[in-house]
Amino acid sequence: MVEYPRVLVNLEKIRDNARILKDKCIKKNISIMGVTKSFCAELNIARAMVAEGVQFLADSRLTNLEKLGAIDIPKVLIRIPMKSNAKKVVEVADISLNSELKTIHVLNNEAEKQGKIHGIILMVELGDLREGILPKNFQKAAKETIDLPHLKLMGIGVNLTCYGGVIPDNTNLGELSDLATQIENKFGVSLEIISGGNSSSLYLLNEKNFPEKINNLRLGEAIILGRETTYGKSIRGTHGDAFILEAEIIEIKEKPSVPIGTIGLDAFGNKPQFQDMGIRKRAILAVGRQDIEHDGIIPLDPRIKVLGASSDHLLLDISDSERDYKLGDIISFQLKYGSLLKVMTSNYVKKDFLGVVD
Ligand SMILES: *Cc1c(COP(=O)(O)O)cnc(C)c1O
Repeated sequence: MVEYPRVLVNLEKIRDNARILKDKCIKKNISIMGVTKSFCAELNIARAMVAEGVQFLADSRLTNLEKLGAIDIPKVLIRIPMKSNAKKVVEVADISLNSELKTIHVLNNEAEKQGKIHGIILMVELGDLREGILPKNFQKAAKETIDLPHLKLMGIGVNLTCYGGVIPDNTNLGELSDLATQIENKFGVSLEIISGGNSSSLYLLNEKNFPEKINNLRLGEAIILGRETTYGKSIRGTHGDAFILEAEIIEIKEKPSVPIGTIGLDAFGNKPQFQDMGIRKRAILAVGRQDIEHDGIIPLDPRIKVLGASSDHLLLDISDSERDYKLGDIISFQLKYGSLLKVMTSNYVKKDFLGVVD
């Protein structure tokens, strides 16, 4: 029996997206870390990525990496580890992104205990002001990491367009590339992974002078939604609708478009604004802000307007639709990144898959 709300994940579409990105990256000798955090590392979806040849799986959460243990491919922790969690980091991740020497030392001790060599990618701060070691302190940190016997400095990386909205370009990625060369020359090591960012770096692949040492990208949204994230453009040939949310109508009524009474604050402490459009046909769906962001869902019926949502009700204006919706009908939506994250995280949304990956 089908249960609603549900998200229908088309694994063939995910595979198409992963294949197209793999083909693009391979031309520039770039490996891909398939980032699984937006879909809570659902194994079916991760397997679809792996089937098309992503070389690593990466997640920000240890619980997700643990789940991915079922797939035999190197795993990367892409959020800077908590010092208190080093044991689990070494257990579930082969490689972690790091920016704190204290934590790196704890990881070294833990790797010794577990009889492992744990891989480190040192993150450099190049302006976006999220994680990363400042360039002036970078060589020292690299040297200290290289000298720890139970760690291997696998490479270096940068994260952009996350907090500060700084766009990857030939200047900042050029700086990453130069830092890699400096470290290799100065300390006589060779770095396997020079990780030039996330889905926002993809647009640069079309440029002739892509910094040549960059040989890895960490891609989530691009594979999942078929979009590069610097300009928000869809990537040619990919699908933006691999994830479809379906929810059921639990009330349909004609009601005024402006509330009646004195307007105070809504359930989330905001003062709502209304435009008087007269009497409108409205539908309530059994899904809400615990499962979606109402400004991050796009009805497949283009004549439906999303009015708003409370914790567990989604309000739609269906007056202009060509379809005569009835109580119990199902309405479908494409998802933006923020809603996808919530839909996949919500325990109240059923996850169904189209297609199989073995
Ligand atoms: C989330 C994340 C990514 C993936 O970002 P997308 O925009 O989904 O490609 C890559 N690297 C790090 C460090 C992240 O936290």
